[in-house]
Amino acid sequence: MTIQERLHRIWATLPEGVQLVAVSKFHPAERIQEAYDAGQRIFGESRPQEMAAKAEILPKDIEWSMIGHLQTNKVKMIAPFVSMIASVDSDRLAVEIEKQAAKFNRTIDILLEVHVADEETKSGWDINELRAYIASGAFESMPHVRVRGVMTIATNTDDEQIIRRDFQNIRDIFNEFKPLFGATFDTLSIGMSDDYPIALEYGSTMVRIGTAIFGQREY
Ligand SMILES: *Cc1c(COP(=O)(O)O)cnc(C)c1O
Repeated sequence: MTIQERLHRIWATLPEGVQLVAVSKFHPAERIQEAYDAGQRIFGESRPQEMAAKAEILPKDIEWSMIGHLQTNKVKMIAPFVSMIASVDSDRLAVEIEKQAAKFNRTIDILLEVHVADEETKSGWDINELRAYIASGAFESMPHVRVRGVMTIATNTDDEQIIRRDFQNIRDIFNEFKPLFGATFDTLSIGMSDDYPIALEYGSTMVRIGTAIFGQREY
């Protein structure tokens, strides 16, 4: 199947209003161009250098979403053009995004990455720390950061019940935070190639799909 055919299959399964982030990390710009020509506009990358290099040569109306762990000192590489930073997992990172967004006179959309999976290795906020952080009013002093929602990666397992538990958890967290941020807090980013049909059942508004569009990545 071509990238175009795979995209059409996936679009057909997404309810109206659900956004598709085509995760293009480790794939060359030509493959992204193919997806773009098929009509895809949002692309996800996990490394700032790679994203910046691709953004330089690809169409300017692409919306770039940073989905991987982002080091504070790398924010400035993507701040001039990035649409969304979907992996905000610390105060330091949020503060740096505010600083860089202000410098470029932009507002940057972010998602709060929450740790709900079993693996300790996964990144994201501990839910209690995040609750306390939000309650401290930290985001009120960040006018250039717009908190759009939450994101997580479910436990890597074949046990569907565990995946469902993780998605239920993040959905509850999304609903808990929504009244605190208001109408612009509208994004629940869950679901990857293997688990996005389940994520849709839990109200995902943004799936992040790589392998099912571009094939296996070469590391
Ligand atoms: C790589 C990655 C994806 C895409 O994973 P696939 O299994 O290839 O669909 C989605 N979300 C995040 C955070 C990723 O790092």
